[in-house]
Amino acid sequence: MPLSLIVHGGAWDIPEELVEAHDSGCRAALLEGWSTLQADGHALDAVEVAIRKMEDNPALNAGTGSVLNSEGKAQLDASLMEGESLKAGAVAAVETVRNPISLARMVLQSENVLLVAEGAVQFARAAGMDECRNEDLVVEREVRLWKAWRREHESDGQGASGLAAGDTVGAVAVDGRGNVAAGDSTGGRPFKHPGRVGDSPLIGCGVYADNSVGGAACTGWGESITRVVLAKTALDLLGEGKPVKEAAELAVQSLIDRVDGRGGVIMIDATGNVGYAFNTAALACAYLREDMSEPVASVVRLGNRTLRTS
Ligand code: ASP
Repeated sequence: MPLSLIVHGGAWDIPEELVEAHDSGCRAALLEGWSTLQADGHALDAVEVAIRKMEDNPALNAGTGSVLNSEGKAQLDASLMEGESLKAGAVAAVETVRNPISLARMVLQSENVLLVAEGAVQFARAAGMDECRNEDLVVEREVRLWKAWRREHESDGQGASGLAAGDTVGAVAVDGRGNVAAGDSTGGRPFKHPGRVGDSPLIGCGVYADNSVGGAACTGWGESITRVVLAKTALDLLGEGKPVKEAAELAVQSLIDRVDGRGGVIMIDATGNVGYAFNTAALACAYLREDMSEPVASVVRLGNRTLRTS
């Protein structure tokens, strides 16, 4: 089976000054995951290492550098799924773990699917994972933004409902044995309500993987993505025989048509073809298939088109 890997670094209005950081962050994560695939690693390993790389990148909204909730804390969500046995693991509202994707991997290997908040941290502790302080996940840029958002929104009691999310990271891989895996990791929506959970750790909403069809990982407004179960919707379209690019486009179109949502999806079909679509201003992504001479990594702008795919 030809190797294939796609990663995303979020779907939102990525400003020019952050384009280079998104390009290079996605490219570095892609190459890390690719080395794993080339060394005969499992698709799950490739997705995990690619996402860890982006979680450790303070420019992106996952792990270190995540957006802050209304209390000024980083609260992290992540999930991981593999398409052979349909095993999945996810964590939500975790405050003291540097790499929630690796915690999600441990959950996947347990009898659980989703662990949240302190229970997830207890699980991490029992599994011997190092804990960090919440402050260790917080970067100066996000503190500045949080202070600005608080000034603007707390006084009117509107909360953060109108604020765009962004920068969530994700990956989908197919390994040499035809195993598909998909994962997402995020700090969620800026200034979110404490305990708010978006699509990223919800299996079928933020991610899905099924060896007989392919894999998908989403980014964007979590509430709308959840309502249309975007990752599974995209894979069901693949299952109906749609080519991967069209499946991604139609899934995002359903996000617009049914809930006026904003976001994007990256996908790989069971034979390694890559596709993506989004209806935000931009999507950061990178991908590589065995038949390509070099990786593609870019912040793709929507331009005048409603949807765009590779
Ligand atoms: N989907 C994520 C959430 O709503 C955010 C994002 O993808 O940027 O939590």
